[in-house]
Amino acid sequence: MEIRRLESNKLSFYRTRHKFENYAEFSTVEEFISCYQWANKNKANFYILGNGSNTFFSRKKIRTLILKNNLAKRINPINAEEVEVSSSVLVINLLKYCYENSLDSFYYLASVPATIGGALAMNAGRGQEHNLTIYDFVVSVTFFDGSQIRTLKNIEIKRSYRETIFTGMNNLLIISAIFRFPYKEIDEDPIAARRDWSKKFQDYNSPNCGSVFKYGDRKILGKLKGLKMGKANFSSKTFNWINNYSEDSIFILILIKFAQLLHLLLSKEIGLEIIKVD
Ligand SMILES: Cc1cc2nc3c(=O)[nH]c(=O)nc-3n(C[C@H](O)[C@H](O)[C@H](O)COP(=O)(O)OP(=O)(O)OC[C@H]3O[C@@H](n4cnc5c(N)ncnc54)[C@H](O)[C@@H]3O)c2cc1C
Repeated sequence: MEIRRLESNKLSFYRTRHKFENYAEFSTVEEFISCYQWANKNKANFYILGNGSNTFFSRKKIRTLILKNNLAKRINPINAEEVEVSSSVLVINLLKYCYENSLDSFYYLASVPATIGGALAMNAGRGQEHNLTIYDFVVSVTFFDGSQIRTLKNIEIKRSYRETIFTGMNNLLIISAIFRFPYKEIDEDPIAARRDWSKKFQDYNSPNCGSVFKYGDRKILGKLKGLKMGKANFSSKTFNWINNYSEDSIFILILIKFAQLLHLLLSKEIGLEIIKVD
């Protein structure tokens, strides 16, 4: 494992291209610790990257140390309903395991291209009105806190809508989690059903990171539907969703700033859901 330069358009689901000054992939906690020590020594910010489906790189040159989670992908059954899953596993692969074993699960995340680590960090779930998130099935989360490996039980993990103690730029690496999925008789394939739903209601015309803001004024955001700035636009199909057609992140940034400015002028609150990394 080495910290190196990388030019890529693959690290964010917006598919923007960037020159990453410092990039590394870690496959063990020890490798993560050595990157972490490098960042401390060099007074560098660092960012833990899952699958990049909620990550927005805002500049051409990214100086933040990007640490891509390449831990071994493990789904280890503990008993018929409990399973230990490493943070690098894709959500869809855990859902397939649940479906094959007739277990209830967060099947509404079948349309989300996330890692388990990213989904736990973001408190991923359905829209706010549904009050359903991945944590409905979490028993505990094991993480490295910058000095030691710790485990917190579900109720000990502070969180709110699309936010947890792990969200954004911090030194907490989620290593694995234990889930409890109760047995359930399942008739219709819930994964296919969710995928059909997302094709119908979500805009997959071009690269995107799903919802952009975790809260904002519905009237203002509604009016922004279809607004285009250069090679990016607010989707006219899906509320609060930016479609990108460029390798340059500037157009997305302008759309975000514009929405924030409108909220400021009209004294309304707005909060970014996607994580902006410089
Ligand atoms: C088409 C589409 C649909 C979407 N639909 C939904 C939806 O229905 N509901 C929803 O909630 N979200 C949705 N999203 C947003 C996104 O998929 C989620 O936020 C997801 O949880 C991000 O996972 P990731 O692995 O891609 O994380 P990344 O984008 O890589 O990272 C997101 C955050 O998680 C942190 N993180 C990642 N891995 C770890 C780790 N191992 N330890 C600690 N921190 C970590 C990062 O540092 C960052 O703060 C959608 C996105 C897309 C593209």
